[in-house]
Amino acid sequence: MTSLEDLGIDFEELDIEGIKKKFPFLDTRKYFPVKLPDDPGFAEPTGDVVDGAIFIPESGHISDPQLSTHNLQRAAEARGGEFIFNAEVVEIRKKDGKVAGVTLKDGTRIDAPIVVNVAGPHSYIINRMAGVEEGMNIKTRALRQEVCHVPPPDGIDYQKEGVMISDGDIGCYSRPETGNHILVGSEDPACDEREWVDPDNYDKNFSKQWTAQVLREAQRIKGLRVPNQMQGVVDLYDVSDDWIPIYDQSDLPGFYMAVGTSGNQYKNAPVVGAMMAELIDKVEAGCDHDRDPVQFYMKYTGRTFNMGFYSRLRKINPDSSFSVVG
Ligand SMILES: Cc1cc2nc3c(=O)[nH]c(=O)nc-3n(C[C@H](O)[C@H](O)[C@H](O)COP(=O)(O)OP(=O)(O)OC[C@H]3O[C@@H](n4cnc5c(N)ncnc54)[C@H](O)[C@@H]3O)c2cc1C
Repeated sequence: MTSLEDLGIDFEELDIEGIKKKFPFLDTRKYFPVKLPDDPGFAEPTGDVVDGAIFIPESGHISDPQLSTHNLQRAAEARGGEFIFNAEVVEIRKKDGKVAGVTLKDGTRIDAPIVVNVAGPHSYIINRMAGVEEGMNIKTRALRQEVCHVPPPDGIDYQKEGVMISDGDIGCYSRPETGNHILVGSEDPACDEREWVDPDNYDKNFSKQWTAQVLREAQRIKGLRVPNQMQGVVDLYDVSDDWIPIYDQSDLPGFYMAVGTSGNQYKNAPVVGAMMAELIDKVEAGCDHDRDPVQFYMKYTGRTFNMGFYSRLRKINPDSSFSVVG
């Protein structure tokens, strides 16, 4: 709450009656600690009521990430950017101790004095190609995730009545999804297995984790049913050792990275782009970012941010949630 106050974000503190009034379809009992369906005591309340809730009226979500990404593409093109699709980088070329460009799978060579690794769950592969992974204290890996799409209980228009809910008590986040669905993801509690995978070879089918998440959500949303047919998404997070991104330079001059987005940085992409551009401009102009980190001014909040927070050389941040919550 202190952070919300400091940033001037409106919020309402809800007690149990407040939660029931605003969201009558929610079960307000406590279920913590988070369990799997096979664990003893699963779905049995551990307390009469949760501790309370914070409601942030101006929060929201993007229901069409492909369209919003397309909009960014068009904005970049309007400023002279160019995109090549379905092209795989297979080599990061170097010359005189600096990055020199990339080579694509079809042999095309693109020369460039600056290369930025934004390969998502493949980020560690690109860092290895560039030979910079050894010099990083914080590294990245691909983590398999299942996200469930289920219909709401009868009689509820979830796109009107539902909101994005972060619910540590049941270890799930949820939000309305198009087609009057509820989307349910894991908040990575200790009971959920971490499946580190090869990003080019992993199981894209749903598993019992899907059912576990929906059953956990059914503790909170009264009357939620578990459909026979599993729907949703199986995909990968690019997770750093402390679940905080790496927005940084590297030990190879001219080679930068915006990686380790750990399932929660989609919405930050525009500001990350501005921050990376400033980092690159300053480092190329001679700034020693590892010793004297770039301070980034955030024009909408009027605050200055120490980019050293995202350094590849940092120690593991013990204050991280070590989950998608960041
Ligand atoms: C299931 C799931 C749910 C999520 N939910 C949320 C959410 O609710 N809110 C939120 O803010 N964030 C969320 N995220 C995280 C968000 O999707 C990422 O932070 C974001 O997509 C990172 O963007 P990016 O451009 O850095 O990487 P990506 O979107 O991963 O894109 C990387 C691109 O690089 C390409 N690539 C990889 N290797 C190569 C190569 N060798 N040559 C050429 N191209 C290559 C890939 O094909 C891909 O197109 C979620 C992620 C997942 C998986």
